This record gives sequence, structure tokens and C-alpha cells, in this order.
Amino acid sequence: MKQYDVIIIGAGAAGLAAAGELVTRGRRVLVLDMGASPARKVAASGGGKCNITNMAAGATRYFGKNPNFVRGALSRVGPTDILKWCERHKLKLYEKEPGRYFCADGADAVVDALGRDAMGADIKFNHNVNNVNKRSEEFIVVANGTEFCSKSIIVATGGISFGTLGVSDTGYKIAKQFGHEIVPVRPALCAMAVPIFGADMAGISIKAEISVGREKIRDNMLFTHFGIGGPVVYRASVRDLSNGITINLCPDCDIFSALKDAKQKNGKRNISTILAEHLPVRIAKYFSHADTRNIADWRDTEIRAIANNINNMHIDTHDIKLHNLQSAEIVRGGVSTDNISSKTMESKICPGLFFVGEVLDIAGDLGGFNLQWAWASGRVAGQNA
Ligand SMILES: Cc1cc2nc3c(=O)[nH]c(=O)nc-3n(C[C@H](O)[C@H](O)[C@H](O)COP(=O)(O)OP(=O)(O)OC[C@H]3O[C@@H](n4cnc5c(N)ncnc54)[C@H](O)[C@@H]3O)c2cc1C
Repeated sequence: MKQYDVIIIGAGAAGLAAAGELVTRGRRVLVLDMGASPARKVAASGGGKCNITNMAAGATRYFGKNPNFVRGALSRVGPTDILKWCERHKLKLYEKEPGRYFCADGADAVVDALGRDAMGADIKFNHNVNNVNKRSEEFIVVANGTEFCSKSIIVATGGISFGTLGVSDTGYKIAKQFGHEIVPVRPALCAMAVPIFGADMAGISIKAEISVGREKIRDNMLFTHFGIGGPVVYRASVRDLSNGITINLCPDCDIFSALKDAKQKNGKRNISTILAEHLPVRIAKYFSHADTRNIADWRDTEIRAIANNINNMHIDTHDIKLHNLQSAEIVRGGVSTDNISSKTMESKICPGLFFVGEVLDIAGDLGGFNLQWAWASGRVAGQNA
């Protein structure tokens, strides 16, 4: 049986970031991946342009039981370090929004750069790890019936969303086996089905605001055949939804005042015509329920009810159905950070066992935060394993 210093399970973003560090340190490294090629989610990321990092990366942009856990790794490997890494690999970047970096050379160029750093590691594809054991001071990792042996292992198996790219729950199973808790996993950075909107609104795109707790998120919303999507919904979906969400479909206009003004100026106008000055026609018609009365005939309570639905529509948590795991960019939940060192990513229960990237109960906001977490946690583990 071939002996390694470190075995990394998963050749994704975090696993390859760890491999690069370990190779630099002269460690004998084996990377095992169930798929046929490296970092498939990186290759698919950012619509093929890989949103590689975000200068705003900090605990407030991460979600899970303990978002402060990210501080340790991000203080060692921050967004500026990733920009330097890109420079070293001659990757051309551009900012889509201030501080939000994409790769102009495409996501495949990022995957190639990760591969260059990890050269020197033994990387085996189509190797599905299904068993890990610890015998005295050594880990035995079994993939496709073959045993591999090492002093440390890094679990970098990612999350279980977007299954078509090849995912598994093996990381959670390994964590449980060695005494770690798993925070229940759910889809995040995804669309939502809500009972209010039907398929008749599909295709409309507007600037909307969603309030989740005290936070207000403003971005584009897209109506789909099953509900709502787009960046503002994706960003809401990763947050704590236990108190529901409040949607403002026209955040720059107080619809109640606008309707009252219109009523005073010309009572003969139709309410959906007035609403259409502030909203797409289909939305205006939807909220006026095809009621053709003149605005003068509407009571203030009726106007208030319509305005509330547009500016302040609350959706209870039990009415929110997150779209499925298959279409979600990430999962929220995973291996609890409770018994993991935030400085090294090593288990406090089982020395030599490390967890990095999305397999942990750390979910980042939309905007490059998840890859930043994968790079930071992966590298930190690679510096310590
Ligand atoms: C479509 C899409 C677009 C995205 N775009 C962005 C973006 O632009 N910016 C951003 O920050 N984030 C983005 N994300 C999220 C980001 O890609 C992930 O959070 C990140 O890749 C997680 O890195 P990871 O290394 O933890 O897991 P992954 O990159 O998922 O890697 C896990 C690896 O483990 C392997 N594996 C799993 N189980 C086993 C096993 N049993 N045996 C062997 N190998 C195994 C898998 O094959 C995989 O290669 C996107 C995600 C998706 C799905």
C-alpha cells in the first residue's frame, strides 16, 4: 500500500487549493476525485467567467450556525491574496461590480491554474471514496476497492447541490463517523416558489427589494414559471428564513401616495394604468385584479391593500419553497464548525482530519464569497496538514 503524508478527498476548489500549498511544502500528496475532471463547479462558475473573489469577504457575508468561524481563514488568505495569485498565473480579471472579480480568460483558465499549482501531487480521477478508517496513527482511505494510506486527510467533498456535476454526501458521513455533528442541509443561492405569483408573470424582470430580518437586499428579480428568481432572491435564499421575507416590488416609489395623488388629480383613470407608470404592465394588471373601476371609485382601504401588496408583501416561512437541490448553486448546512479549529481547519476530535470548503456549515453570499471561502479554508488546511 502506497504511503502519503496527506490524502485529499475531492479535487474541487478547496481540495486543489490545499494541494497547491502541500506540494509547495514538499509533502507527498494524493488527491482522489470521483469525477473525470478537476474542479467542475469552478469550471461552471460565474456563467463560465468564475466570480473568483469579492473584496467584501468578511463574516457578515457568510451564513451558518457560526459565521464568525470564517475569520480565522480569511485573515490568513483574504481576497487580496487571491488577486495576487491571479496575477502570478497571469489571469486577467474584471470587476462586474466594485470589488466583485470575474476572470476575463474564463473559468477554465482558473481550473488550469489550480492544476499547475497542484502539479507534483498524485491526482486520481474516477476514484470514488466510500470508506475511511483510522488505524492507530494512520488513515486508510478506500476508493474503488483500493486502499490508500496517510497520516492526515483533508475532506474537500463540497456540497450536494447541482448533482449533475457529480456530488456525494461522503464528507458528511466521514464527519459523523469521527464524531462531528451535521447541520441539516438545504438548497441556497436558488429560486423560490411562493404561493402569490403564478406562471402568468414568467419572464418579467424588475429591480426589487427583499427584507430578511433587519437586512434589506436590493437587486434584480426575475419572475419564473414556478415563482421568483434572480440575484435578489438568490441572496435572500441563503439567509435565515425562519421569519419569512418581505418583498417590495417597487422600492423607489410609495405606491399608496402615488395612487392617492393620481386619485386627486384625475379620478377617471383606471388603477392598472396608474400602476403601469411604476411597474411592468403585467404586474400592474395582476395587482389590480383586472378591476376596471375608475380610481375615484376605490376606497382608501382598497388602495392601501393594493399598495401593501406591492410595497410590503410578507411571505411566511412555511409559504416559501426553495427551489430544488439540483438547481441551487450551493447548500446551507453541512459539517458543524463546532469542533473544527478555525485557524487550521483540523478536527478537535480527531487529529489529522481536516474539513475545507462547502462541506462545512459555511454558506457564502452571492458574489464570489463561496469560492473565496474554498480558497481560504483549503490553503489554510494545506499549510497545516
Ligand atoms: C453553477 C454554479 C456556479 C457557481 N458560481 C460561483 C461563482 O461564480 N463564485 C463563487 O464564489 N461560487 C460559485 N459557486 C459555488 C462554488 O462553486 C462552490 O461553493 C465551490 O466550488 C465549493 O468548493 P469545494 O471545493 O468545497 O467543493 P467542489 O468544488 O464542489 O468540489 C468537491 C469535489 O469533491 C469530489 N467528491 C465528492 N465526493 C467524493 C467522493 N466520495 N470521492 C471522491 N471525490 C468526491 C467532487 O467530485 C468534487 O470534484 C457556483 C456553484 C455552481 C453549482
